[in-house]
Parts: sequence; C-alpha cells; structure tokens
Amino acid sequence: MALRDRYDFESLVNVAENLVLRELEAQLARMGAGAKGASGAGAKGASGADICTCQDCVLDMAAYALNNVKPSYRVSLMGSFAAGRADEAGYANEISRVVREAVEKVRANPSHD
Ligand SMILES: [Zn+2]
Repeated sequence: MALRDRYDFESLVNVAENLVLRELEAQLARMGAGAKGASGAGAKGASGADICTCQDCVLDMAAYALNNVKPSYRVSLMGSFAAGRADEAGYANEISRVVREAVEKVRANPSHD
C-alpha cells in the first residue's frame, strides 16, 4: 500500500513557498510592476515598467526562486508551526536575494516574446 494512501501528507508544507510568494509580491509592488490602475496608471518610466507580470512570468519567477532557495519543510498541524528556525533572519535574507535574482532572470529572458 502506498505511503500516500496510508498517511495524510497535506500537513507537510514547504514554508519557503509562502515566504517566496510573499517576498515576490513585495518586490514586484516595490518596483511598480503589475500595478493595475490604482496609483499612476499610465505613468511610465518606473524601474519596474518593463517587468512582465503575466501568469507565465510570475510562475517562472516563483519556480526559479523555489529551486534556488533551501527548502524548509514543516509539519503543520492545525495550522500551527513549530517555533521558527534559529537562523530566521539569514533565511529571510536568502529568500530576498534569490527572489531578486529570479525577477531579474525572467525580466531579462521571459519565456515568451
Ligand atoms: Zn510575461
């Protein structure tokens, strides 16, 4: 019998995924990429103006970042996580750096024209 049939792996989560997506969102917002309407619609020239935020590009950024950051799997029971890692700050820095790299990579070489 398969392990997946015997055990519930739903509570096994990669914490890096949430952290990467949150960081990606923050960085894109900071660069003014993908800002729809709201503030300064039509105001070109922001540094993020040439960053594509279509489905493909954003998923490429997330995939790149997740492949280059150390995974951090936890067992989440009732939505509660065990105490944070000892190097929480170092990990946050690593994620921030890798996400920046991911955005730059995809911007320079999007998977579409
Ligand atoms: Zn795109």
